Amino acid sequence: MSQNYYQKEIETMPLEEMRKLQSEKLVKQVKHVYENVPYYRNLMDEKGVTPEDIKGIEDLHKLPFLTKADLRDAYPYGLLAKPLDECVRIQSTSGTTGRRVVAFYTQHDVDLWEDCCARAITAVGGTKKDVCQVAYGYGLFTGGPGLNGGSHKVGCLTLPMSSGNTERQIQFMTDLNATILCCTPSYAAYIGETLKEQGYKPEDIPLKAGIFGAEPWTEEMRRGIEKTLGIKAYDIYGLTETSGPRVAFECEEQTGMHINEDHFYAEIIDPETGEVLPEGSKGELVFTSLDKEAFPLLRYRTRDICVLSRKKCSCGRTLIKMAKPMGRTDDMLIIRGVNVFPSQIETVLLNEGYEPNYQIIVDRVNNNDTFDVNVEMTPDKFTDKVSEIIAMEKSLAGAMKTMLGINPAVHLVAPKSIARSEGKAVRVIDKRKLI
Ligand code: ADP
Ligand code: ZN
Repeated sequence: MSQNYYQKEIETMPLEEMRKLQSEKLVKQVKHVYENVPYYRNLMDEKGVTPEDIKGIEDLHKLPFLTKADLRDAYPYGLLAKPLDECVRIQSTSGTTGRRVVAFYTQHDVDLWEDCCARAITAVGGTKKDVCQVAYGYGLFTGGPGLNGGSHKVGCLTLPMSSGNTERQIQFMTDLNATILCCTPSYAAYIGETLKEQGYKPEDIPLKAGIFGAEPWTEEMRRGIEKTLGIKAYDIYGLTETSGPRVAFECEEQTGMHINEDHFYAEIIDPETGEVLPEGSKGELVFTSLDKEAFPLLRYRTRDICVLSRKKCSCGRTLIKMAKPMGRTDDMLIIRGVNVFPSQIETVLLNEGYEPNYQIIVDRVNNNDTFDVNVEMTPDKFTDKVSEIIAMEKSLAGAMKTMLGINPAVHLVAPKSIARSEGKAVRVIDKRKLI
């Protein structure tokens, strides 16, 4: 039986009450970790902090940070807080930025995870009347299993498609009238592009909403997907270490994602000094999982750059919101001394009427960084006149220079010549790392 996953008493809870709830959970969680995870106990001992020092959220800053390096160090069982025979599931990162890490779940953890995904589906208007097509990868990646579980809890008719096989995605979507699509934004854009090529107009597509996350995407890309598919496109955020897509979800206002604060406490820190920054500052997002049993990370540094806001939301939820992460600290390229995020390039492309099909190639020649951006020509801009192509490349490079402060070499390439992604898109090839 499906229950209502708009959990009003939690989602609209006054801040003071939420702090109380979080504090109670934190005190218990710190004890649990200290007693069961020698790796973290050592970090606490080194810092001279005991569980008794943590009386509530106000004491959180006393705890040591955990980083991805710690997770790799402690691989595979070093951060496990429950006996293995109480665990029922393992999930793993996609390995976008290095060696995979694994995370463990008890049945209770899986339940809470799915509850949060059900909250996200409910927030975009999903009910038991919906047909939910889950085109995130299934398996070790958290996207597929997470949204699948959430969709079941809401009572949607679930299409467990996994990613890939775009023809079949489209066939099932149209034959079975899928109303909600869940996948990465780059795959949603690809599905949209394919539907358009097959002659589908937005009004012929049964979808009404999409839940897209697991990689950075821009507002411009959101508008593009909404237009092609004729839907509302919502963001969702999470990482394997915190149980995947259960950390934050977007509501109808579409201005950032509400964090499930009853399960995760978020901080923004200065990535250089580790200092906690006030609400509204841009910095690195740090999460403490307040009630995960098997893999309860405290003060985990996500490396995602982001801003938090407690501005009143028109949906009535009081849960704090996180802006779209603008990239990871390790996503940021430093080219000729200038910070460049792929999302900035994407914004320029979409503003200039191109599709988000691009690749950034950075290399070092004679101690100088080279910076090339391959961009696909769109069918409506297509020309084989060399002078026109050069003029278009120049104009795009100019727009990028204005955004970034440095000049890339832009190359327009044939439509469809850049590999499409069915999962997370590969936007950057940094050849400098190979040297
Ligand atoms: P990997 O680190 O191997 O990619 P994950 O699949 O756990 O493994 O990816 C989590 C990361 O994906 C997050 O830390 C974040 O950088 C990115 N991410 C997830 N959701 C979003 C989103 N909605 N917007 C931007 N980035 C996101
Ligand atoms: Zn809201």
